[in-house]
Amino acid sequence: MAVKTWMGYRMTDSTWGKVKEELRKSVGKNSFVTWIEPLEFTGLKDGVASFSVPTQFVGDWVSRNFADQIKHLMSRGGKPVSRIRFTVCRQGRAKNDTKGSGIGTAAGSKPVPATPARVRSGNGDGDFGLPQAPLDPRFTFDSFVVGKPNELAYTAARRVAEGGPVAYNPLFLYGGVGLGKTHLMLAIAHALQIRKPELRIVYISAEQFMYRFIRALRDSKALKFKQQFRSIDVLLIDDVQFIAGKNSTQDEFFHTFNALVQENKQLVISGDRAPGEIKDMEERIKSRLQCGLVIDLHPTDYELRLGILQHKVEQQRQQYGDLRIADGVLEFLAQRISGNVRTLEGALIRLFAFASLVGREITLELAQDCLADILRASDRKISIEEIQRKVAEHYNIRLSDMIGPRRVRTIARPRQMAMYLAKQLTSRSLPEIGRRFGGRDHTTVMHGVRRIEELMASDSQIADDVEILRRSLED
Ligand code: ADP
Ligand code: MG
Repeated sequence: MAVKTWMGYRMTDSTWGKVKEELRKSVGKNSFVTWIEPLEFTGLKDGVASFSVPTQFVGDWVSRNFADQIKHLMSRGGKPVSRIRFTVCRQGRAKNDTKGSGIGTAAGSKPVPATPARVRSGNGDGDFGLPQAPLDPRFTFDSFVVGKPNELAYTAARRVAEGGPVAYNPLFLYGGVGLGKTHLMLAIAHALQIRKPELRIVYISAEQFMYRFIRALRDSKALKFKQQFRSIDVLLIDDVQFIAGKNSTQDEFFHTFNALVQENKQLVISGDRAPGEIKDMEERIKSRLQCGLVIDLHPTDYELRLGILQHKVEQQRQQYGDLRIADGVLEFLAQRISGNVRTLEGALIRLFAFASLVGREITLELAQDCLADILRASDRKISIEEIQRKVAEHYNIRLSDMIGPRRVRTIARPRQMAMYLAKQLTSRSLPEIGRRFGGRDHTTVMHGVRRIEELMASDSQIADDVEILRRSLED
């Protein structure tokens, strides 16, 4: 590319190349690949450095997050760069100047943008814009720690993010709060937007969907609403359970859904439970939701929690520098905070903030002090009695049969289920569990646990029962 001059100062591609190298070090590898690499330096004039960017998002994001660094590094050459300009250069599209209008993602730790992330403009549709999926570098596949409980969901999400032919539609992700549903959806949007900037990708919570629909009805713009939603290439709807019971919204959702599926457009939907279990959801919608790939995110296990903590520590270090953590602290947290990832993350953030404030190493005592309330809350232990009661209710048998001698299958199976759950959800040993089930031997318990494990693989009814019971016990 030609050499650009500015008052005798020559800024060349190779100078930009050097600046890029500096940036690679300062912003980290992921951010570099996502944000800096796509920038193409196009010139420097009157203190304004120009870049062409593949999408407006990249421009906005860089402008908000890296502009100062870029200006600083470029200015080091001797002459100040006072402003940076981004021009969207997309095949077949009009060039479009972007100013740093910003992406409306909050700086907090919650990934769901409460307000529309931004409005996709320039399609001649007037002011009735849809929120474009936010590109938030915190919620990517790279920052998602994979373990057994979320492996399947992760793999399916990755597959969708490849943007190949639509393999399953919709992809339905479900699971309890804070297990990573929103994170995965945003990661899909993020990856797709970078890979295929020409696609129209919309991430929206079901609540926002409803709100916009109602507003459209009120403003007599229902038709425009329909057209807009039906012109989307990839639609991600978060927390679909929200529209349960809201009839006109469900209707509209159903039609949007069908229209997009017919056009072979990808849908990704999340919910807090399996489609069939969402109360007050119309049957036709439930069955629609089930006809793609339905995957659940399981509650975290110890290994996953530890992995996430280790990953987040690295992130925190970028902010707080090299705070020291004593051995065993992360293991302690992974063991004791068994709730969702959000709680875990919150605990770690608080711990780092506190330790840096008081300038101390993060020791076990410090963690216990600083997180006393979280640790207490996580301490709520599920008792074996509680499990027995819930399981007996679920299968409609008498509680006394749990500990009694009857061996008919209608009694024995629920008993095995309760044993299995006791093993999974409490820290009791097999002999202890055996004692609580009318003094049975630990080998009986082990057999029961194995039996349920086998059945879960072969009998979806049993697998569902386990999930329902587990959830109601953990609530
Ligand atoms: P959900 O939508 O299922 O309620 P979120 O996606 O909002 O959960 O996740 C809650 C928080 O935990 C987010 O900050 C998210 O980044 C983080 N998180 C969840 N799962 C993981 C994971 N496997 N690796 C890293 N962070 C995770
Ligand atoms: Mg969520």
